[in-house]
Amino acid sequence: MTSPHSASPVTDLPEAARLLAASATAASGGDLTQALALAQQALEVSTDRASRMQATYRCAFSLFRLGRLEELVALFERCWPEWRLSASRSDLEDCLRWAVLAASETGRHAEAMAWAVEGVERARSSERAADLALALNAMGACYERMGDPWQAERIMLEALAHARVDGGAQALMITLNNLAAVTVGAYHLLRDGVDEVDAEATLERAAGYAREAAAMVALTGEPFHRVFIEGNLGEALLHLRRADEAYPLLDRALAAAEQGGHLAQVWRIRCTLAEGDLQQGRAQRVLERLQPMATQSLDQVPAATQIRLHHAMYRASRSLGDTATALRHHEAGERLLRRRMAQQLRAQSALMVTRTEAELSRLQAERARLEVQIERARAAELAMRASQDALTGLGNRRYLDEHLPRLLRQAAQQHTELALVLIDIDHFKTINDRFGHRVGDRVLVELAQRLRQGTRSADLIARIGGEEFLIALPETDLHRATEVCERLREQVEHTDWHAHQSGLTVTVSVGLAMAPPHDMATLFDQADRALYRAKQAGRNRVRAG
Ligand code: GH3
Ligand code: MG
Ligand code: MG
Repeated sequence: MTSPHSASPVTDLPEAARLLAASATAASGGDLTQALALAQQALEVSTDRASRMQATYRCAFSLFRLGRLEELVALFERCWPEWRLSASRSDLEDCLRWAVLAASETGRHAEAMAWAVEGVERARSSERAADLALALNAMGACYERMGDPWQAERIMLEALAHARVDGGAQALMITLNNLAAVTVGAYHLLRDGVDEVDAEATLERAAGYAREAAAMVALTGEPFHRVFIEGNLGEALLHLRRADEAYPLLDRALAAAEQGGHLAQVWRIRCTLAEGDLQQGRAQRVLERLQPMATQSLDQVPAATQIRLHHAMYRASRSLGDTATALRHHEAGERLLRRRMAQQLRAQSALMVTRTEAELSRLQAERARLEVQIERARAAELAMRASQDALTGLGNRRYLDEHLPRLLRQAAQQHTELALVLIDIDHFKTINDRFGHRVGDRVLVELAQRLRQGTRSADLIARIGGEEFLIALPETDLHRATEVCERLREQVEHTDWHAHQSGLTVTVSVGLAMAPPHDMATLFDQADRALYRAKQAGRNRVRAG
């Protein structure tokens, strides 16, 4: 048995952890191939989820830097469905971003864009400025690979704003370098007579971004970033015809890229150097530089670099009078350009379709939501209409049947009194006969308003017959109820009915019953009998049952 302190800590660890530690050491020593092999072994022997994730992360790290992008995409597609459910963490965001870059580099634009969107959303919710800046960088890279370096630059400038505020040196440096890369890319689209003025301005911007990044990498200095950044700065400077500054950077970057096994960068820098040779009319040199690459399998070389390679070979062969070779490279370059354009257009139209469909289904969902609301409102209105008296706007008998039982139940439970009041217009038939039905109706409307104004909002009020009204007064005793009834009766009597119709007078008789008993039939019966007694006693009076 070894105590935790006696032996080397690495040998004490479980197999997977030991392999992972060794992989990290190999990676930081610059041996990415070894780092990858160790991480792959770790992945094989990992038994728990945590070390499986860590092993996958280390594999992705090495694959990305080695430029083995197809493998990276395949690895990511296998692990992401499980990882996706995990909360946002920087290592997950890293993997997602590498996958975006790898997928878009290998022409898998739809996946790349979907992952990029996911990455930006995750980063926004994590509220880590560095993650957000890097996620936006990845999204910008997608646009660039889809043929729109201008949109890429816009998105990366948003990333730059986040990085400058709160993203830390690493995110800022990477953003600046990516801005340099996409603007150099834009330059390659604009050069050779497409738009010389814009090409020059774009190149100046590229050099600006790259210079700031290069000043930072000189301080933090990770070899991979250094290669990338100095390659970009060298490329921008070379095309700006500042060869003195450009060559030392490019030579150093090329040596470091070769040493680190960063193949994509090796090829890219060689193309830049070949373009420099062309500037100086050294066609033979171009062939020497690029011939070995041109005869290799170019599967791992990004399309943009392949296109540049064929273009340089074409120009060099042509100026050497080797028309056959020139033509071959011209055709190869042309084919790649068309293939890339087809991929880009297809990806863009797919994206547009996806967006249009998303917008359409959003609108449909919104419409369905509104329809449900309208339907509810309509149903509520119908229900209200069904329990409302059309002439006076008061509740009707149905309304009464719906609500009076509830008030009575509450009063019974709380042992409170409730007054039930029946109001009937005196000699209403005569009013109709003398002044006509229209005046009769106006009297009903006016009376309803008096009753509404003379009661509390908690009171229930309904028109239950032609000229009969009911009011239920919760939590009201006999004394108070009698007062209310008297007041209402008086108000009706003293209303200026002449204003409606000369010679018109209106009075009401009122019958009052008190709960308990909290029984609707009994209360109605009592109130009705009280009303009858009020009529009998000469009308225009209140009687309690
Ligand atoms: P009493 O003092 O005994 O209550 O006498 P009354 O004339 O008011 O009683 P009766 O029940 O005989 O008459 C009620 C009248 O109310 C008969 C009917 O034509 C009239 N009426 C019912 N509904 C309406 C209505 O909506 N508009 C109008 N203008 N009249 C109505
Ligand atoms: Mg009546
Ligand atoms: Mg009447």
